[in-house]
Amino acid sequence: AAEEGFDLEDVAGDVAAAGHGPLPVLAVVGRPNVGKSTLVNRIIGRREAVVEDRPGVTRDRVTYEAEWNGRRFKIVDTGGWEQDVLGIDASVAAQAEFAIEAADAVVLVVDATVGATDTDEAVVKLLRRAGKPVVLCANKVDGPSGEADAAMLWSLGVGEPYPVSSLHGRGTGDLLDAILEALPEAPAQVFGAGLGGPRRVALLGRPNVGKSSLLNKVAGEERVVVDKLAGTTRDPVDELIELGGKTWKFVDTAGIRRRVHLTEGADYYASLRTAAALEKAEVAVVLIDASETLSVQDTRIISMAVEAGRAVVIAYNKWDLLDEERRYYLEREIEQDLVQVQWAPRVNVSAQTGRHMEKLVPAIETALAGWETRVPTGRLNAFLGELVAAHPHPIRGGKQPRILFGTQAGTRPPRFVLFASGFLEAGYRRFIERRLREEFGFEGTPIQLSVRVRE
Ligand code: GDP
Ligand code: GDP
Repeated sequence: AAEEGFDLEDVAGDVAAAGHGPLPVLAVVGRPNVGKSTLVNRIIGRREAVVEDRPGVTRDRVTYEAEWNGRRFKIVDTGGWEQDVLGIDASVAAQAEFAIEAADAVVLVVDATVGATDTDEAVVKLLRRAGKPVVLCANKVDGPSGEADAAMLWSLGVGEPYPVSSLHGRGTGDLLDAILEALPEAPAQVFGAGLGGPRRVALLGRPNVGKSSLLNKVAGEERVVVDKLAGTTRDPVDELIELGGKTWKFVDTAGIRRRVHLTEGADYYASLRTAAALEKAEVAVVLIDASETLSVQDTRIISMAVEAGRAVVIAYNKWDLLDEERRYYLEREIEQDLVQVQWAPRVNVSAQTGRHMEKLVPAIETALAGWETRVPTGRLNAFLGELVAAHPHPIRGGKQPRILFGTQAGTRPPRFVLFASGFLEAGYRRFIERRLREEFGFEGTPIQLSVRVRE
């Protein structure tokens, strides 16, 4: 909602929303074709282009924001991912596992016209063991005659089946009421910053970049060995680790310690895990194998962190393996492929030798500080006034859009709202962002900039 008439109440809303911590997370699981994506689209009001995604194509984006009766939550859509990549049972099990680890409540979607299948029952078992609240959506009940089909789903043993037609909207209100009841007011595992809890760090990176090596290094060698945990726990493991005289919470480390032996669909699984860890973290440390050419997967993970609005540190690992030539090409890759995160602090480390490990904490602290920076409105407008006077927006169609004033609507990450007399071109917005960074820092944090046009 960037270009629209402006209204001070909107700004107040933005400010209020930004003040809240992370939102509770709802996962939608179920077999292919039961209507998960249709349901998600209905709940989020089709604001997002979920339907345009081709099935089987790994999406970067898996969470959407939704609101019902004034309460906001995140919804995780696991539909559309799986068809080509995994077999049905494996994909549904992976969704369920993801839901258990990352979500505060789960909607299990069953096609009422088909009834409960063995796969549905297997998922129920997984969910029940984890003790997460489950809301049962008996989908494709398009009219009263389908109610009987829905009632059959009591047999799944997860409580009342809510008869719903995701396609037409029938019954979705009752379902959403039940969902709100199942969701906690705020996610249990999350403590806001400033409340004295440890800062939350997600260690991310594609397989084999050295995440578990790094984790073991920073946690001390005597820590749990990967295999001991393998398969024994279904819970996310957040580990408290002392570093640089402070305690940090490394979130979702079970995913790092437990080796996931899914060759098919490993990308898909890794993306889910990355999204889950980002939900819980304040800062993402993205590990890149410096000895190898930067891959699409590396940049995708960085983009996910940026899109999630988290502080970002980029750690080039395996620095011990670099020779002069590789170092030269690495610099060029960084210039070419990582321009969009030029602002992220970089550390060049070796999890093996321990090189530069002591630089990790200062980089994380820098990024978190940037993430929380607030520019007072007066200073911001003085800066904007000078900037606009020196570099006015180019004239388009005889008109020259002007920035009237701006305000920082939120932090974590910094969010700015600019009020302008006309549409501001993307190039000009990027210019403003660049200048904001030059002026105020914001190292290690994405900046969100929206423009409200006042006609
Ligand atoms: P997903 O694979 O679980 O995400 O399922 P989709 O949302 O892609 O839906 C699969 C098919 O079922 C599509 O053709 C939908 O139009 C259809 N569908 C979804 N919900 C309903 C419903 O409530 N009623 C009917 N009749 N069809 C539905
Ligand atoms: P993960 O899949 O990201 O958790 O990666 P691992 O920690 O399992 O590491 C993958 C491989 O890279 C292992 O063989 C590690 O020993 C090796 N490795 C990790 N960090 C370094 C490093 O800094 N230097 C070198 N030479 N090898 C490393």
